[in-house]
Amino acid sequence: MKYVRQVMAVGTLAALGTAGDARAAGDDGRARFLATYKELVETNTTLSAGDCTLAAQRMAARLTAAGYPDKDLRLFVPDGHPKEGGLLAVLHGADPQAKAVLMLAHIDVVEARREDWTRDPFTLIEEGGYFYGRGTSDMKAQAAIWVDNLVRFREEGFKPRRTIKLALTCGEETNGALNGAGWLATHARDAIDAEFAITEGTDGDLDAQGHRIALEIQAAEKVSQNFTFEVTNPGGHSSRPVPDNAIYHLVRAVDRVSHYEFAVQLDDANRAYFTGMSKIIGGEQGAAMTAVIANPGDAAAVAILDKDRDWHAMLRTTCVATMLSAGHATNALPQRAKANINCRIFPGIPREAILAQLVKIADDPAVVVSIPEIRGPIAAPSPLTPKIMKPVEIVAHQLWPGVPIVPALEPGASDAQFLNPVGIPTYGITGIFVDPDGGGIHGLNERVRIQSVYEGRTFLYRLVKLYANQ
Ligand SMILES: [Zn+2]
Repeated sequence: MKYVRQVMAVGTLAALGTAGDARAAGDDGRARFLATYKELVETNTTLSAGDCTLAAQRMAARLTAAGYPDKDLRLFVPDGHPKEGGLLAVLHGADPQAKAVLMLAHIDVVEARREDWTRDPFTLIEEGGYFYGRGTSDMKAQAAIWVDNLVRFREEGFKPRRTIKLALTCGEETNGALNGAGWLATHARDAIDAEFAITEGTDGDLDAQGHRIALEIQAAEKVSQNFTFEVTNPGGHSSRPVPDNAIYHLVRAVDRVSHYEFAVQLDDANRAYFTGMSKIIGGEQGAAMTAVIANPGDAAAVAILDKDRDWHAMLRTTCVATMLSAGHATNALPQRAKANINCRIFPGIPREAILAQLVKIADDPAVVVSIPEIRGPIAAPSPLTPKIMKPVEIVAHQLWPGVPIVPALEPGASDAQFLNPVGIPTYGITGIFVDPDGGGIHGLNERVRIQSVYEGRTFLYRLVKLYANQ
């Protein structure tokens, strides 16, 4: 998930972090990194036609080639899911008392159809300053950076104080698919044990001109939960319609969802975000942020922020209709009509409270509201302690002096939802700056700025080194 605002410039991509700067900083091995990234993007890892196990094997081969012994690499393939495997790897630390740091990435991607895309989604294409391809942004860049980090650390003979672990997992992008991080949390908890984990979440924000606005660090994330609206009916011949029609009941209930807004809520994460952003953005929007922090009931200020889809989502629980199915024949009254309502629940709110609210919103006893599946327990967000933030500040200052660091409440969900509940606090930190439109994440023609990927590589390389030597 990505957020960016159209606000003033802090530093431009053109002015900072060029390839030459990177080389001057001793940042070599870029061609090898690119090959890793390309191999990952070009290995289709969609649930329908892809193979995460193959991608994991390919990444393992790179680590083997870099000198990692077999005992430090573990391919895992959950029973009954031969193509949904992943990889664990370890670089041992010098201090056995120090807990590990875990680099976590999902290697599966959202479905992408060649006929819908301008370019082949499973070919890494460099064009006009961007990498194009499914997963270029979400999140094969960071996955490739993690593998590349291990290769570089080994090559340099880096001996960290803490052990550095890598987990590449499958199944993050598809609700209902086996989730690799969830599988590890229950089947290999010891293998991934760490003081904390770093994964996707919030990124850096660029404006439309490519100016850096802020580096966002995920402080908390919403919980994704599906609900089903379902209406059943005896049906009948369509030549003899009656008002009691399953489709009509359903669409009226769904329409009521479209008109409903959950109340504004503030917690540490979105309060910190709006406090930081109000100063960066200023003007009417900045003033509205300050006003909402002081009084979440300030309807005029909320209305200003609600015009931005990201801010709207950060302020409250949201629910939206995402799928519909109904009827069984063109000449029959429908016997069944069903909708999926996808909610993004504000941290700390139980699913049952949202279920009860949806029953009220549907306002029709013919509409049965239920929870089709639960992905796991809900854990409290992990605090952004100085141990996490200080290294971020150090490296961000080296690479992007003057660019503010802003904690954020992420409306999307990541694999943090599986690791937080088993005692591995998981943070969304990428250092990859993205465009205001999000770059086609989960959608068409996914892309990310080439320079952003290379800068993210430098950022995460230095950051993990600092964490590992804490
Ligand atoms: Zn992702």
